Amino acid sequence: MIDLHLHTTASDGQLTPVALVAAARAAGLTTVAVTDHDTVAAWPDLQAPADAEGLTLVAGIEITAVEAGRDVHVLGYFFDPADPELAAFLTAQRFDRRRRLEAMLERLAAVGVRLDLALPDGPVVSGRALGRPMVAAALVEAGHVTSVAEAFDLYLSHGRPAYVPRSGAPVREVTRLLGRAGGVGVLAHPGKLEDDRLVHRLLREGCDGVEVFHPDHSPSDRGRYLALARQWRLMVTGGSDFHGPGSGRPSALGRVTLPEKYFGRLTAYAGRAEPAS
Ligand code: AMP
Ligand code: ZN
Ligand code: FE
Ligand code: FE
Repeated sequence: MIDLHLHTTASDGQLTPVALVAAARAAGLTTVAVTDHDTVAAWPDLQAPADAEGLTLVAGIEITAVEAGRDVHVLGYFFDPADPELAAFLTAQRFDRRRRLEAMLERLAAVGVRLDLALPDGPVVSGRALGRPMVAAALVEAGHVTSVAEAFDLYLSHGRPAYVPRSGAPVREVTRLLGRAGGVGVLAHPGKLEDDRLVHRLLREGCDGVEVFHPDHSPSDRGRYLALARQWRLMVTGGSDFHGPGSGRPSALGRVTLPEKYFGRLTAYAGRAEPAS
């Protein structure tokens, strides 16, 4: 079983790389890509436990691009995790993430929600990517809300009082960057954008593939994007987007996986192996 969308403590996942590998194996997964937000900090910690567990690893990442003021997630696969241009880009992304969270804490204070949250110095020291779930957890802990989901609904989601828009590279540039690093760029969970005109434009002008299999996709989303991928000859990917138990996201390891034939095509396209069929 193949899962190409997983998060660890290097971004907003709850399991360490080592614990995630063990959980993946226990769930019956055989090939995985860890796709932390804007960081590959988990990569060096994954190889040894994956080897020990007999798990195949694919280099992965989930980069936040920006289109018309909206966050759009781009999954990258098969790139060189040590690529210097990619590394510099990701460091800048992590600094932006930290600044954005600081601005969000200020907005929370402006609506009377005071949080005593010391943001760790992640961007430089450990390569850890900070994100809104960290603020959501602090809101829960301080008793301002009763769950992470409520924190997003009341304060942190797009259009809510503490939301701060991002600036950043468009999807097409992110895919090109991944290409220069030897990898491919895939539009993540397009169904979550709820704007198929935007999705069509992004797929046409700047993606190697589309994430079809995702827990937030309805059967109709899946069918629609699969048909589009066939028509436009795009790679198809998928995974659980697992962030850990209690992350406020309804996903379990092994529940959403990528059928083997699509993975065979992806590896062939990325120039890493012969097609499986
Ligand atoms: P950020 O990376 O700072 O933009 O935060 C986005 C992350 O927050 C996503 O990748 C999810 O892990 C998490 N997230 C977004 N919306 C929700 C929600 N409604 N409930 C729980 N987690 C969410
Ligand atoms: Zn996340
Ligand atoms: Fe995402
Ligand atoms: Fe994700």
